[in-house]
Amino acid sequence: MTTQEKKAAPKPKIGVYGFTGCAGDQLLIIHTEDELLNLFGSVDMQSFVMASSNPIEGELDVAFVEGSVSTDEEEEHILDIRKRAKILVAMGNCAVGGGPQAMYTGDKKYKERLQKVYGDNVKFFIEPVEAKPLDAYVEVDYYLPGCPIDQKQAFALITRLIHGAVPETNPHPVCHECKLNETHCLLLDKKFCLGPLVAGGCDSVCPSHGLPCVGCWGPIEDGNFKEHFKLLESFGMSKKEITRRIKNYGGHKILQYLENL
Ligand code: SF4
Ligand code: SF4
Repeated sequence: MTTQEKKAAPKPKIGVYGFTGCAGDQLLIIHTEDELLNLFGSVDMQSFVMASSNPIEGELDVAFVEGSVSTDEEEEHILDIRKRAKILVAMGNCAVGGGPQAMYTGDKKYKERLQKVYGDNVKFFIEPVEAKPLDAYVEVDYYLPGCPIDQKQAFALITRLIHGAVPETNPHPVCHECKLNETHCLLLDKKFCLGPLVAGGCDSVCPSHGLPCVGCWGPIEDGNFKEHFKLLESFGMSKKEITRRIKNYGGHKILQYLENL
């Protein structure tokens, strides 16, 4: 291959999309400044709703999608993105687990709740549906958890993907980071903390400041839910209250872990 041909090699086509959520993950990518210039120089950015009003909706090498699927329009859009993207990344807690808006998903009272908030005979421009994570509709290749995502973790994943490498995922819970930071464990003082059940990546920022982990990075697959619930119950909390708290961020995804309690 000649030097000229090498120069003409196409850059990977990337799309960044935002569904229902606070848009904090897209904002976080934009706020990286130096890395952002490198990113825009290294890829062919086809769509980035927060950075450009002129999207190109063609084939993609990698699609990053933030937010939960909460309307019929988003349902159609995620199916369309999946068809066009070779790799799909769920970015942030709402896309990965459904987010706080999914904390009651699956309780069979969706219509009742909708009616309570909006009343009768309301006409929606876009039809709402019960909030769910992306993988309730399509296959997701990689998960980038966080609320919001961590910049370093995000750019490590983006860099690997645009160079065709397999990204590393963080298999450890928040407690692992707590230990590395030599933080005093709140459980030793019989205080509530969800760290053993929650995906790490935030550098245990809350316990490091004396605050409990409330699970905003979402549940970790091999967390010992049963034993941790028993421990928190021994501190005087009811199972109902623990469940309510963990569902705040565990959303729809947490249900499968709670089924066997
Ligand atoms: S404070 Fe919380 S996150 Fe830290 S080690 Fe204890 S249980 Fe785990
Ligand atoms: S709530 Fe837990 S997962 Fe979220 S930032 Fe705090 S320590 Fe990390």
